[in-house]
Amino acid sequence: MQTSTPRALLLKRSLAAVWHPCTQMKEHEWLPLVPVARGEGCWLYDPEGRRYLDAISSWWVNLFGHCNPRINAALHDQAGRLEHVLLAGFSHEPVVELSERLARATGGALGHCFYASDGASAVEIALKMSFHYWRNCGRDAKKRFVSLAGSYHGETLGALAVTDVALFRDTYAPLLMGASQVPSPDGRRADPGEPPREFAIRCAGALERHLEEHHRVTAALIVEPLVQGATGMAMYDPEYLRRARALCDRYEVHLIADEIMTGFGRTGTFFAHEQAAITPDFLCLSKGITGGYLPLSLVMTRDAVYQAFYDDAVARGFLHSHSYTGNPLACRAALATLDIFEQDRVIESNRAKSARITAAAQPIAGHPRVKHLRNCGMIWAFEVDTNDPGFARKFFARALEKELLLRPLGNTVYFMPPYVIGEEEIELLASRTVEVLDALSAG
Ligand SMILES: *Cc1c(COP(=O)(O)O)cnc(C)c1O
Repeated sequence: MQTSTPRALLLKRSLAAVWHPCTQMKEHEWLPLVPVARGEGCWLYDPEGRRYLDAISSWWVNLFGHCNPRINAALHDQAGRLEHVLLAGFSHEPVVELSERLARATGGALGHCFYASDGASAVEIALKMSFHYWRNCGRDAKKRFVSLAGSYHGETLGALAVTDVALFRDTYAPLLMGASQVPSPDGRRADPGEPPREFAIRCAGALERHLEEHHRVTAALIVEPLVQGATGMAMYDPEYLRRARALCDRYEVHLIADEIMTGFGRTGTFFAHEQAAITPDFLCLSKGITGGYLPLSLVMTRDAVYQAFYDDAVARGFLHSHSYTGNPLACRAALATLDIFEQDRVIESNRAKSARITAAAQPIAGHPRVKHLRNCGMIWAFEVDTNDPGFARKFFARALEKELLLRPLGNTVYFMPPYVIGEEEIELLASRTVEVLDALSAG
């Protein structure tokens, strides 16, 4: 009997006891839930040995493969020393070293790290810190935030208020603080023939008009630098960030760079904002920071911001906290991840790998249903021309049959593989994606 296999039993128990995230659970009446027993490199294996190429880095977090021996070794070592201690009033080597190394990665511009556990909490912290900074400076009116159309910054109530993805936001809109959106420089929205840079400049004009009118009440602009992930891998020209930085300076508005997805080499540079040669006032990091091992997030900021909280009055301090703030195991995983970046010269070697994947993806660009194949660093995306509202789920299910883990966002199919993806895996990813497209086109 099918239902008596260990695999089937696990699925049955999962559907009975686990409320899965980002899911209408009823869809699992027909959509496969995928049991995973172990991982190795770019591959995930189910309990019966069936394998899936993890082309989305398991929700955009994995950098150097599943069960990476170097990160495993660091975690084993740390587990034998110290698993956790509160960070209020206490300190430990991994959190200090991580803060120092990340500060160096910003050229010393962002000298202070404030820790949390998940991406949305980092966004909450950046929003609260920005507001509190202005308040400490006697600028209480600065309490509004502005984000880009289509932005995604997480799903807790503060982060959701600056998120502009209807599916996640609309239901909870009555609970959210008011925030403003300005047009996104998403290159796909440019006029026909308009170069992405010209379009970015045009969109920066809209930001300028917004700030001109509202700067007195605006604390910060929050952006996903270069790639807006959850809205459908919208990519834009760095010129937008340069202009946004200048406008924020001119109008005394903070610039929050949400690099939760784009950080740690994903866009081709260590941080995406480097491509615009700017420094944000707040930098939110998470996802890849631990190589995809453990929840860890942080907000980096300038010394000048830090100084505005440094005072005899307790309430002028930043009293925000999370139980697992700066967890030593997570920090060690992050340090092991930074070691790999240095030892393997990952940013450099990813350049050749990125070019190789772009070349392998050319048959996809030529597919009659495919539009806008685009790339930024280690992210590729394209739209599939279809009116089927069930496209994303059907593509996901078909891809699984071909050993690919791909999870389209609406009509947008994207690749965001672990950086350790090899030659054969690249070929397999590209050729089987074409097979899935063909199968779905045939109906
Ligand atoms: C994933 C993501 C978040 C939220 O992070 P969580 O850990 O899922 O809360 C915020 N911003 C961006 C750009 C993200 O991609």
